[in-house]
Amino acid sequence: MKKLYCWRCKVEVPMLDESEFEIANRLYSEGIKNTTPGLTREARYKPLLDYYKEVTGMEETEPNAIMHHRIAQYGPPCENCGKPYRTSKASFCAACRHKRESK
Ligand SMILES: [Zn+2]
Ligand SMILES: [Zn+2]
Repeated sequence: MKKLYCWRCKVEVPMLDESEFEIANRLYSEGIKNTTPGLTREARYKPLLDYYKEVTGMEETEPNAIMHHRIAQYGPPCENCGKPYRTSKASFCAACRHKRESK
């Protein structure tokens, strides 16, 4: 887990690393497969929401938010402002327009 700026939520959120995301992803697909009638959306994804809270200490009610809080989908932090590049292939920073240093 690492706190990173999320481009979709426009705020810093706890993001999952690959081993944490793997577990979250499994709980998410179990939620999708759980078609018990009368089950609320929140009850269906409760194991995922609980897991996220356990790892991050943050209460989240939207499973889809958790699923895009994955460190690996973003690039490294910008050399200028520290916000992550939007993708690993981004050539400039979407926050401060800093041109990415090519290595
Ligand atoms: Zn987000
Ligand atoms: Zn930047």
